[in-house]
Amino acid sequence: MEKYDLVVIGAGPSGYAAAMRALDFKKRTLLIEKDKVGGAGVTNGALSSKTWWELSREVASFRKNLKKFRIDIPDVSYREIQQEVRNAVHERKSMLEDHMLQMQDSRHAHLLKFKKGKARLLSQNEVEITSEGRREVVWADHIILATGSRPRYLPELPIDEKIVMTSDGIENMEDFPESMVIVGAGVIGCEFATIFSAFGKTKVNLIDKGDRILPFEDEDVVRVIERNMESNGILIHRNSKLVDMEIKDGRVEYELEYTDGTKAKFNVEKALVAVGRTPNFEDLWDESLPIDFTKRGIKDNETQTNIDNIYAVGDITADISLVNVGELEGRYAVEKIFGNPARKLVYENISTIMFLHPEVAGVGLNEISAREKGIDYKVVTLDYSCIPRAIARRNTQGFIKLLVTNDDEMKILGLKIIGHHASSAMQSVALLIFMDKGIEELAECVHPHPSITEGIQECVRMLLGKSLFKPEALKGKLSCRTSKAGLYEDIHF
Ligand SMILES: Cc1cc2nc3c(=O)[nH]c(=O)nc-3n(C[C@H](O)[C@H](O)[C@H](O)COP(=O)(O)OP(=O)(O)OC[C@H]3O[C@@H](n4cnc5c(N)ncnc54)[C@H](O)[C@@H]3O)c2cc1C
Repeated sequence: MEKYDLVVIGAGPSGYAAAMRALDFKKRTLLIEKDKVGGAGVTNGALSSKTWWELSREVASFRKNLKKFRIDIPDVSYREIQQEVRNAVHERKSMLEDHMLQMQDSRHAHLLKFKKGKARLLSQNEVEITSEGRREVVWADHIILATGSRPRYLPELPIDEKIVMTSDGIENMEDFPESMVIVGAGVIGCEFATIFSAFGKTKVNLIDKGDRILPFEDEDVVRVIERNMESNGILIHRNSKLVDMEIKDGRVEYELEYTDGTKAKFNVEKALVAVGRTPNFEDLWDESLPIDFTKRGIKDNETQTNIDNIYAVGDITADISLVNVGELEGRYAVEKIFGNPARKLVYENISTIMFLHPEVAGVGLNEISAREKGIDYKVVTLDYSCIPRAIARRNTQGFIKLLVTNDDEMKILGLKIIGHHASSAMQSVALLIFMDKGIEELAECVHPHPSITEGIQECVRMLLGKSLFKPEALKGKLSCRTSKAGLYEDIHF
């Protein structure tokens, strides 16, 4: 039987990162993947959907500009867009595979092994791998489970991945549908609503059980996103519950019941069901192994399961499901097994982006979460129209919102940016939060001009009472307040 220091099951972002980190410790490592290297980080997931998003933004801006200059708008070919997305997926997947092959030919040859097949734990140390009728069993001192997740299916919906689809099927359509309903107004649902409405070919309906999309997000952010969605033709079915969905004559018929008791029927060409993800742990271990789990995922203590040599990372655990979180956990598990992690595993300050119109980037707390935690804070906002780079871009839609502690130290609690370049602008603040620093550093550092980060600097300077623009003026564009027990008060210097 082949023996390994570490066997990693699943070569999505979490498993891949774990296997590569194990090489740094010079450990004999086996990585097993049953399907596609890169997992949902690449295929039918993060990279593919972001390529759709990037292309849809380009098409939308192209259309807007051509219209401005009164030039005829050419037709957008679904097939060409789809091919471009496939090229992106292929490029990344091949790179991950080539990297692995080259590592296997390098001085790490004796350390890294990759096997294609479906893995299953027979015991605490034995892993069975089956592939095309072949079966083998290997020995592992340590095991990392990184088998990820799949779209959640609702049994009452007729999902066939052709007419009623999940994120696994949506990229395989043959043309832009003329109409589509999206079930679920969470991040994935809203991202696809943004993508399909931006191509200008699809009338999108979005089913939302509450009175606003993205219920975990601050109201001012949601307001901008909803306004853009609606001006782009998206119909948001607010306060509605899907009570029936059927495929009829190759189309989708669905019925909604609103909170006021009224009902309505709709007919569209396609449906996307985006109601969350289910962890992949069916048949992953023999029933003699008592690994603790709930339906949300495997239970873990900083990546370690209740069985001391078995770890679980990424989407298969019950924490946040993101590529960067999976990679963080994968690397952390390896450090915990073979070394001594320098820090604890913390989830509070994870940077996130939502690929909407415009993009929304954040780190740390937003106002909803600060209030839920009972924290008083200072909050400063600055509209994109005050930032020269946004003016130059001829697109000043968006704002920056910075939250700091309500004391003299003014430690950064969180940052939210909605607007162009939001994601690239926020990293300086993410780093300050990570280093547990206050805001002085940001106020004094010379930022490049013109850049969106100058807007963050202006926010910090407002909090310190030394900004270029004073919040007493430009009402509606600037604000600098405290929030105590949920009530705002202007700060005067
Ligand atoms: C539409 C969509 C958009 C997303 N957008 C973003 C985004 O913008 N940013 C972001 O950070 N995250 C995004 N995510 C989430 C992100 O893709 C996941 O959090 C991430 O891929 C999880 O990584 P993972 O390695 O834990 O699991 P996965 O990526 O699911 O990989 C698990 C791997 O394990 C393999 N496997 C499963 N069972 C076995 C077995 N028994 N034996 C061998 N192999 C097995 C699977 O084939 C798969 O390749 C998105 C997800 C979706 C669906």
